[in-house]
Amino acid sequence: MATQANNEATVLGHPKGLFYLFFAELWERFSFYGMRALLTLYMVEEIFKSLSNRDFATAAVYASYGSLVYASTVIGGQVSDKILGMRSSIFLGGVLMSIGHFVLAVENDIAFFLALAFIIVGNGFFKPNISTFVGALYKDGDVRKDSGFTIFYMGINIGGWIAPLLCGGLAVTYGYHYGFALAGFGMMTGLLFFWSGIKKNVFGDKGLPPNNDVYEKPVLGIPQKTLIPILSVLSVPVIAYVLSSYDAIMGGESILGDETIVGLIFKLIGITIVIYLGNIMLQSTAEERKKLFMAVLITFFMTMFWGFHELSGSVITLFASRNVALDGLMTAAQTNSLNSMFIILLAIPISLLWEALSKKKLNPRTPYKFGLGLILAGASFYILALSKGSADENGMVPFAYLIIMYFVLSIGELFMSPVGLSKITSLSPKRIVAFMMGIWFLSSAYAFQIVGFIGKQLAVDSTDVNVGGLDTIDIYTDGFMLISQYALGAGLIVIIFSPLMKKLMGDVH
Ligand code: GLN
Repeated sequence: MATQANNEATVLGHPKGLFYLFFAELWERFSFYGMRALLTLYMVEEIFKSLSNRDFATAAVYASYGSLVYASTVIGGQVSDKILGMRSSIFLGGVLMSIGHFVLAVENDIAFFLALAFIIVGNGFFKPNISTFVGALYKDGDVRKDSGFTIFYMGINIGGWIAPLLCGGLAVTYGYHYGFALAGFGMMTGLLFFWSGIKKNVFGDKGLPPNNDVYEKPVLGIPQKTLIPILSVLSVPVIAYVLSSYDAIMGGESILGDETIVGLIFKLIGITIVIYLGNIMLQSTAEERKKLFMAVLITFFMTMFWGFHELSGSVITLFASRNVALDGLMTAAQTNSLNSMFIILLAIPISLLWEALSKKKLNPRTPYKFGLGLILAGASFYILALSKGSADENGMVPFAYLIIMYFVLSIGELFMSPVGLSKITSLSPKRIVAFMMGIWFLSSAYAFQIVGFIGKQLAVDSTDVNVGGLDTIDIYTDGFMLISQYALGAGLIVIIFSPLMKKLMGDVH
């Protein structure tokens, strides 16, 4: 078949399709991170500017948004596997995300919540499926697969690096809405790359619906391929309502108090997952049980790490805007690009380090890497806490602290994130691998609940646009000190128990 012949074409030794997916994901992440860089500041300075508890409301909405934007990937992955296939899912997701970013460019509170909901549903279809698509380009056991994913991770971070710089620059010069609109154009560019890959037939027969009969099968008189986009759009106002119905925003008292609807849902899901996993463990062999326990622990540590890491778009952006002497080098939103910049610089050196250590049989096993990752997260927040000692008379700290903080945090990320996913696949019993992958994605979702909790603790009550400097320096740096103690403590505990964990992992490195 012609499709197969084309599929064998390679660039730099990798399937040609990888490079189309690379650019599609680069631009999708451009839109995602360009928007994320602006989100907290936009809520504090525009959407909630008249509320005295605007930081608190912002932290809550940011947490609900972040949790749902990652949780939706579990549903998007399932719908793709069973009905739509990866191509249609990626298209649907990309279109919904573009709409979301353009709706954000409209200056209106209702539009704001609708836009977040569009991005949540869109990301749910786009993100898991483009990652699975990369894996599908290689046959099982193909040695190029890992380096394919490393190239893809680079694409993610190139998007995450340039987007905050451009969107953050536009927002300051012309207004937030221009920044959001640029994010929307970014997503459309991503879709164009994906579409041109399909037109050039570089994906062969990959990513088509798993079963055409199911794809076309009418439900309620509408073929599933049409019904799913309709249901997705219909879910948008419901999600927007869930995001916006919160005491701190609406005023008044509800039975939920400080809890958000999303927070409550996540607690219930968490309990269900624990019961389900407990049940699976009871039905497993002793060997399976040990490994599964480790898969759960690894996911738990990853959640913790992302919980601190994802503060970058929330508390750390506010700290950058209120307490860091950026000296015109960057705007607060633009500092969001530092993490991705360091990932681009460090990803290859660190993977070479593991390779070199492997040759000497010194490559640390996963628990050690995870322990070190958490310790590095702790160290990074310790650096930020120390910045207080160098604050000037206005409570502004030197930019260098923030840069070094991101440098250290990014090394921590590289010790954990790329390693974790592959370990989950090897440690989970075959029959629940897909379920465990879902749980892995949920780790980022739960992380945003941690971000929300911390964000609420460090919220500053004020409607003053100039709040910052001496008003806030202690609140932030004391908070960072506490976070660093938690992360360092957790990392040390992991290291202490690593010899035991190594045994539980058996033959999995
Ligand atoms: N930076 C990575 C990405 O955007 C991972 C983020 C996460 O899972 N929290 O894909």
